[in-house]
Amino acid sequence: MYTYKKVKDLTLSVNDRYILSIDNHQEVMEALADFCRKKSITAGYITGLGAVSEATFRFLDPNTLKYVDKTFQEQMEITNLTGNISCKDEAPYLHVHLTCSRRDYTCVGGHLLSARINGACELLVEDYSLTTVNRRTDPETGLNLYDF
Ligand code: FE
Repeated sequence: MYTYKKVKDLTLSVNDRYILSIDNHQEVMEALADFCRKKSITAGYITGLGAVSEATFRFLDPNTLKYVDKTFQEQMEITNLTGNISCKDEAPYLHVHLTCSRRDYTCVGGHLLSARINGACELLVEDYSLTTVNRRTDPETGLNLYDF
């Protein structure tokens, strides 16, 4: 599903960092969730780039608190993937946003539900799991917010 390498850190940081390559044709959120589970990462940060053949984004309408999902089925470059890792109900919780550029160089993006790699996906995953970052569902916004 993916390959990875641990980053050697001469600053003796207690945080682990991984360079992660998701295999071609894999789904990004599945691969990230699998990696976080296997490495027991419950707090962290993700950045990356790559290329996809399909991506589904989610938009939350703040007035109705209803989700609107939209899928783009076309070849696109991942110009930015940014995400964080936290913990909800004792399991790793991923919050990922994605921006993709299309053939005509316009961009689409949003909260990422799923994306299918077509080409490559190269990421940096930072593990801050020595810090506990939990989430709770906020009744006002309907969001799973940080619970510090
Ligand atoms: Fe979001």
